[in-house]
Amino acid sequence: MSLDDPRRQDLIGWGRTVHRSAEVRRPAVDGDGLVDTVLAAPKITVRGAGRSYGDAALPGAGIVVDMTSCRRIVSFDQGSGVLVVEAGALLKDIIDQTFPLGWKLPVVPGTERITVGGAVASDVHGKNHPGAGSFGNHVLWLELLRSDGQVTELSAGKDADGFWATIGGMGLTGIILRAAIQLQRVDTGWLIRNRRRTGSFEETIEAMQSLAEQQELDPDRHAVAWLDGHGHGTALGRGIVDEFYSASTLDLPNGVAPYPELRVSGTRQRQSLPGPGVVSRTTIAAASAARWHLSRSVNSQIVALRPALCPLDRAEGWPAAFGRRGLVQYQFAVPPEDFGVLREVLEFLATHGMTPALATLKNLGFGTAGPLSFPIPGWTLALDLPARWLHRPDTLRPVDKLVAGAGGRVYLAKDSVTDPEVIPLMYPRMWTWRSTQQRLDPVGRWTSGLAERLELLS
Ligand SMILES: Cc1cc2nc3c(=O)[nH]c(=O)nc-3n(C[C@H](O)[C@H](O)[C@H](O)COP(=O)(O)OP(=O)(O)OC[C@H]3O[C@@H](n4cnc5c(N)ncnc54)[C@H](O)[C@@H]3O)c2cc1C
Repeated sequence: MSLDDPRRQDLIGWGRTVHRSAEVRRPAVDGDGLVDTVLAAPKITVRGAGRSYGDAALPGAGIVVDMTSCRRIVSFDQGSGVLVVEAGALLKDIIDQTFPLGWKLPVVPGTERITVGGAVASDVHGKNHPGAGSFGNHVLWLELLRSDGQVTELSAGKDADGFWATIGGMGLTGIILRAAIQLQRVDTGWLIRNRRRTGSFEETIEAMQSLAEQQELDPDRHAVAWLDGHGHGTALGRGIVDEFYSASTLDLPNGVAPYPELRVSGTRQRQSLPGPGVVSRTTIAAASAARWHLSRSVNSQIVALRPALCPLDRAEGWPAAFGRRGLVQYQFAVPPEDFGVLREVLEFLATHGMTPALATLKNLGFGTAGPLSFPIPGWTLALDLPARWLHRPDTLRPVDKLVAGAGGRVYLAKDSVTDPEVIPLMYPRMWTWRSTQQRLDPVGRWTSGLAERLELLS
């Protein structure tokens, strides 16, 4: 079998801010023809499920190779929990298969609808990062198709530099073909949730800090806070802090099955609403106030694990609600002592009439050794903003400066707006990464919209 006929397609990132038309090649299910395509194309962007928000999986120059057809589970050892899987497999499909066998992925981001290749290339993190680390911490080895057509196995013991440059390497070291992942035992598909409503930014930070200490000791402890980005004084940064930990079968009421039946919404892309969409300053203010006022502090609630960890998978229409111009998610991390920057960013947005539609705070622990991996110990705040508010490309430059000044960084998998000049400050090991990237790709075949916009390769 050979590759599909070349076809031009209109591609978008999940936030719908960037649109590109490109020739898209999809390998045959057995991967046949992929090497020939790679050797024939001078410039290639690798794409998984296309759930990065900005232009990470959109083409720069050249063609796009879409890996979603290579999605087989190659092997699973039920004794050790080692899974070997093709890079185009969705996390959702892995969870569907392995959950009932009592095994789970140790790291799941806010959506299950991403590929293993995308999870490795962005080194994704979940709400349990302080204890579990990021996705790359659980990868035992990778198979990488390099730009010279050779397939190389990489691991922490076999070309460690190449391995760590690929984890978090945003698809710029080669095409990940397969990965071996160490899964973890799971007792039930349920979590116990403690919810606390906080009355101020300080209270939110204090609650998350004390959860971070517990999270460091338990890879199964998840924490996330929704922050009210609206309002002034103490209202700014008040929120709802959720802590989740695993429920054992003993915790479940009689008659409750260990694995809940899931009603999953479809993955069909919703049409963007014409004009500005339903997300506006008025609706954000009303929704924020209602969310905070209607929530209550409550402990020991049993909730289904998958929707708790991936709430937006039940809201596929979220980006469409931002209208034709789409949604920018600005996600950044700052060190533990710099939580003041979180508040400064919220204040900057509030005073410039840009209250985020969603502001989500998580704790981060130690990252992987990947020089381009996002997580650093501290805080990460993700802010959903209507793209139409960012009138000029430099609207968020003051925020870039605040983040870089604190030794923080933006998350490349979500980015579409950051100033290229601050990227080397944010990722000080960029130079190390570049020399490994150039060794793995001496002909300069791999690229992407993100790589070109942020000058990651030059
Ligand atoms: C609702 C939502 C919630 C999210 N929550 C989180 C979160 O909590 N934590 C988090 O870390 N991220 C989160 N993300 C971001 C998402 O996990 C990443 O953007 C992820 O990389 C997307 O994977 P994908 O398969 O869609 O890859 P794409 O978006 O298609 O590609 C992402 C990057 O991976 C590269 N890539 C893809 N496949 C391969 C391959 N086979 N070989 C080499 N490179 C490849 C691409 O070149 C690109 O640079 C969220 C995204 C959404 C939409």
